[in-house]
Amino acid sequence: MSDRKVRVRFAPSPTGPLHIGGVRTALYNYLFAKQHGGDLIFRIEDTDSSRFVPGAEEYIIESFHWLGIKFDEGVGFGGNYGPYRQSERRDIYKEYVQQLLDKGKAYIAFDTPEELEAKRKEIDNFQYDASTRQLMKNSLTLPAEVVQEMIAEGQQYVVRFLIEPGIDVVVDDMIRGEVHINSSILDDKVLFKSADQLPTYHLANIVDDHLMEVSHVIRGEEWLPSAPLHVLLYDAFGWADTMPRFAHLPLLLKPIGNGKLSKRDGDKLGFPVFPLEWHDPKNGEISSGYREKGYLPEAVLNFLALLGWNPGNDQELMSLDEMVELFDLSKCSKNGAKFDYVKAAWFNHQYLIRQPDEAWTPSFDKLLKEQGVESTPQKEAEVVRMMKLKVIEYVDGQGNKHKRNISFVSDLWPLTKFFFVAPESFDREDKFIKKNWKEETASEMRQFIQVLSSIEDFSVEGQKAVIDPWVEQNGLRPWNAWRICLVGAGQGPDMYELSAFLGKEETLRRMQFAIDTLG
Ligand code: GLU
Repeated sequence: MSDRKVRVRFAPSPTGPLHIGGVRTALYNYLFAKQHGGDLIFRIEDTDSSRFVPGAEEYIIESFHWLGIKFDEGVGFGGNYGPYRQSERRDIYKEYVQQLLDKGKAYIAFDTPEELEAKRKEIDNFQYDASTRQLMKNSLTLPAEVVQEMIAEGQQYVVRFLIEPGIDVVVDDMIRGEVHINSSILDDKVLFKSADQLPTYHLANIVDDHLMEVSHVIRGEEWLPSAPLHVLLYDAFGWADTMPRFAHLPLLLKPIGNGKLSKRDGDKLGFPVFPLEWHDPKNGEISSGYREKGYLPEAVLNFLALLGWNPGNDQELMSLDEMVELFDLSKCSKNGAKFDYVKAAWFNHQYLIRQPDEAWTPSFDKLLKEQGVESTPQKEAEVVRMMKLKVIEYVDGQGNKHKRNISFVSDLWPLTKFFFVAPESFDREDKFIKKNWKEETASEMRQFIQVLSSIEDFSVEGQKAVIDPWVEQNGLRPWNAWRICLVGAGQGPDMYELSAFLGKEETLRRMQFAIDTLG
């Protein structure tokens, strides 16, 4: 790499919610910038006013805030190269459009949409280029005075890039190597429109990358077809020496079948394709987001980082700092990466179980509130501890081994409901209940209630001191039936711990209910 300071940018257009592929693009830019001690710029490309969607810019900023991706400069971050919102840079672009016109690298075209349509009908595969521009209404075919007159009269026009045919355009891509394109296949792209006095994406993008001293353009593969045009624009301006290096990232592909990942895949298979929930201002439609689904930002970033790149060994779990260290842009894959959403849940599981207890409490608390349950952070922490909820492999109160399958905090509800809500019914077909609730069980439980009622200190130790000797004396084994009473099934923690958690009154109440119901 040259000794140029690394400056990269993420430059979304605020046309809707940020797609998850855009998040990966931003992440790779971030990793590359940090790795080289460079700057990451956040630029808003909003020159296509017809596609502007209110709230999209705020949504994008909030997404990165949640994900923990920090920009060094840009919209909302400040910096010396501003303004960073393209709609605030109109005058700058005008100046550069004029430069191209003056140099004869661009021309003014007056063709109306109807005239263009007529030409398309007349000529098969019509393209506005070297082979057709002489047939059109533009500053190359009209006398200069006429052009001036038409502009003075207020006729709408566009400025088109004059592309010389037959040039071998080389895009030197850090991932794909040299990509060659013959300029003859390119059309004279519109760079500026008089109607809204705004440049198109291509011109604004190149001018800004140049003025903001961008050293590397890292973006999705869908922009590769624009790259030859961009190379030619740098040439036309005389900026070839400082042209950024390109890296076009592999596409994100459908989890099943062929083609690009789409929102429909997410809807069909039940995973979000947006970082945050999105409320469409046009039709009120709500699209799910990773944040609202219960994903941790670290898990999302880790998952995305490995879609198109890997550190070359088997390591999968990486902090953002580790990724910065290991990331290698030139080792990104050329081939599309299948969007393995099952793996996303796996990553979330890995991050969730590594979090400290305190980190679980707020989301657990939120979950319980949603379920209409009154609780306290202390209680929740206690449940997490008792159930060994962070342990992947654990042994239950029955001595059976299980693998924990918690990918989201919401998965905790079926596992912990009984701590907060008493059993309302019992499944008589349940194996555990069938085996452990017999003819004589109700009467045994009645005796056991007597013993429990006499206990003053209902802590684990207090209960043990009374119950252990009683069990010894009577030879009764109340544990499984007691579990049925308090849990309603053959699961849960140590019985003393559970009854201490529930307290004497609730414990006795649940036992009486089971006796009355199961008989
Ligand atoms: N505004 C473009 C987008 O929406 C930027 C493409 C680029 O990075 O050059 O992704």
